[in-house]
Amino acid sequence: MTAPFIDLRSDTVTLPTPTMREAMANAPLGDDVYGEDPTVNALEELAAAKVGHEAGLFVASGTMGNLIAMLTHCGRGDEVILGKRAHTFLYEGGGISTLGSVHSAQIWEQADGSLALDDLAAAIRPDDLHAPRTRLIALENTHNRCGGTFQPPAYVAAVSDFAHARGLKVHVDGARIFNAAVAQQVDVKKLTEPVDSITFCLSKGLCAPVGSVLCGSREFIALARRWRKHLGGGMRQAGILAAGGVVALNEMVERLSQDHARAQKLAQGLSIYPQLVFDAGSPATNMLFLNLAEAAGLSAAQVAEALKVRGVLVGVTGARRFRLVMHYWVGDAEVERVVGAFGEVLG
Ligand SMILES: *Cc1c(COP(=O)(O)O)cnc(C)c1O
Repeated sequence: MTAPFIDLRSDTVTLPTPTMREAMANAPLGDDVYGEDPTVNALEELAAAKVGHEAGLFVASGTMGNLIAMLTHCGRGDEVILGKRAHTFLYEGGGISTLGSVHSAQIWEQADGSLALDDLAAAIRPDDLHAPRTRLIALENTHNRCGGTFQPPAYVAAVSDFAHARGLKVHVDGARIFNAAVAQQVDVKKLTEPVDSITFCLSKGLCAPVGSVLCGSREFIALARRWRKHLGGGMRQAGILAAGGVVALNEMVERLSQDHARAQKLAQGLSIYPQLVFDAGSPATNMLFLNLAEAAGLSAAQVAEALKVRGVLVGVTGARRFRLVMHYWVGDAEVERVVGAFGEVLG
């Protein structure tokens, strides 16, 4: 890592690995808007095969992938049901509404980030001209704001059956779907095959510098490809970016278990400090959510500032709340240094 910091703010800070840089430098390229970039085509095929869908679409970001998915599933004035703490609802600029004219019904997640079937049933609109038409259910797996929690195959299958029986589609915001799969030691297909579309990020724990892939049926992706162009996402010689994604999918998935193990190790290390209070069940995957006890006498921002002086960057997600995210560039030695830095700051 070039920076002198141990950066736990997010797994988006990951730099490409040396193997990725080499693959990027040597990638065969073409005009992807003409469908002629062999590296983009290879990435899209590899991604689709991994998640058990017919086709894939390389997009600039997870946000763009989710937006395109919703524009493709929903028409103007249609409604998507999603969680109140969904990334798409909270952190994607409201793009589905501002750009897509897609309305959203937000329901509370369960503690594990899932949407209860009863709540989904209650949110489906009646066939009445006063109401928008319910078209889509959007899940998030792993669920960021719910603590990096994951949903199991049986749940994904149940929601898909529920939706399909009612003529609805299911999209998964699977920015970290491989974390969800690795944490449960299941083939990722078990989490993705039952649904109609899935977006996952190459640029988080998988370390690629840029991009996400949206996967679905051939027909769905053909329509999605039109929306990508429409949004200015036709990127021409994008194989130079996609090459990093190919390495990410081939080499970086299984090792995510190391990030999960280090999250556990960090949680254990930090558990000696009574000023820190962990969320129940945290960490579920690669992220740790913790709170400062009242007695700590410091705000999260003050602690973060003092940690920064000691070479550690943490995410502050509330007045007394932190998020610490494990990734490829955080090894065992770094975990120990973080525990020590917290000790110095908390005193
Ligand atoms: C990061 C993230 C996204 C969006 O990805 P970007 O590439 O940053 O646009 C979507 N959903 C979840 C759950 C994420 O964590």
